[in-house]
Amino acid sequence: MPQQYVLVLNCGSSSLKFAIIDAQSGNETLSGLAECLGLENASLKYKLNGNKHTVSLAPNAQHAQAIAVLVQLINDNKLSDQLIAVGHRVVHGGENFTGSVIINEDVISAITKVSALAPLHNPANLVGIAAAIKAFGSLPQIAVFDTAFHQTMPSKAYLYALPYSLYKEHSVRRYGFHGTSHYFVSGQAAEVLQKPIKDINLISAHLGNGCSVTAIKGGKSVDTSMGITPLEGLVMGTRSGDVDPGLFSFLSNLGYSAKKIDNLLNKESGLLGLSQLSNDCRTIEEEYEKQNPQAILALDVFCYRLAKYIASYTVPLGKLDAIIFTGGIGENSHLIREKVLNLLTIFGLSVDNDKNLAARFGQSGVITNNNSGPIALVIPTNEEWVIAQDSAQLVKEAK
Ligand code: ADP
Repeated sequence: MPQQYVLVLNCGSSSLKFAIIDAQSGNETLSGLAECLGLENASLKYKLNGNKHTVSLAPNAQHAQAIAVLVQLINDNKLSDQLIAVGHRVVHGGENFTGSVIINEDVISAITKVSALAPLHNPANLVGIAAAIKAFGSLPQIAVFDTAFHQTMPSKAYLYALPYSLYKEHSVRRYGFHGTSHYFVSGQAAEVLQKPIKDINLISAHLGNGCSVTAIKGGKSVDTSMGITPLEGLVMGTRSGDVDPGLFSFLSNLGYSAKKIDNLLNKESGLLGLSQLSNDCRTIEEEYEKQNPQAILALDVFCYRLAKYIASYTVPLGKLDAIIFTGGIGENSHLIREKVLNLLTIFGLSVDNDKNLAARFGQSGVITNNNSGPIALVIPTNEEWVIAQDSAQLVKEAK
């Protein structure tokens, strides 16, 4: 089988993650991250053939400049000849996309239309798409949507109890995000359980800066915690997750503008807001070990909310085979995994401390030792590989 290299681009609001991945094996020849785009200290770090490099970008450099540096890098190292496609992570596809697609004018206009639902992400994704088309016009460009995996949810799971006209006229509903990650780890879990994915029921917790949990029945998403935007659900790094909607009028009566409330819920809440220390879980854990009461409070709220969501997702699943932890926190924090699983002993889960400690820093594994009932697993996610695989598949089908 020939190697099938795909350039994968993931544009965040002020960052650009990139990689050249062999869709067959998942091996990366180039990977990197441009950070602080739009700020004084914009920079680009990359790893090529195992060697690490840093490039400082012009102050306030935007996505387009970072992509120009990336294109130069690819051309200088003669990597472009081997590329078969460019795969783009697109955060919001609305109800238009149930899977990945080759990008054309209609796709771009559909992504633009739903930008109001993901104002921090979709415009950045579109900048990446435009720059990549300019630089690699001859290559197919593929869009892989965070929302697509969740389009299998039934209406009872995706509808809010609001006037139905809001859904029909303005597409107000739950969409869910992190779909590529939940899809990837559910496939890996089936391999660990040695059962066909159609025969197993899973709950997957993606815990990074953004956090979401998904109920996956026979390989299909049947419920998920993020909503019309990536703000709903779990406690996250700086996002509040669920709050009483009555809070909006309460805060507005206190004189908060809509913009201020939005900023408060998205950027000043979550682990940062509760701990008053940091949005970085590692810092909070260090303080937790020192018995800092704010750190204890933040992790208690984080774990309690997550455990409640996991328990509630046994409703759409009926039977549960495994709980999966992934994302930066899920893959590394043995403390959070232990605290969450200890809140779920009703399911017969029993944490194996040695296995829980071992499953970190890229190591996957089962972390429970009960002989019956569901197990808990740590599985490092790899959204980039899914994007490369989908891109290669669509290129093959188009031939
Ligand atoms: P993103 O959602 O931006 O992709 P990541 O999946 O990389 O983010 O997750 C970032 C989170 O993972 C941060 O809160 C970070 O503190 C946490 N994290 C990373 N390593 C560890 C660790 N060893 N222990 C606890 N938390 C960790």
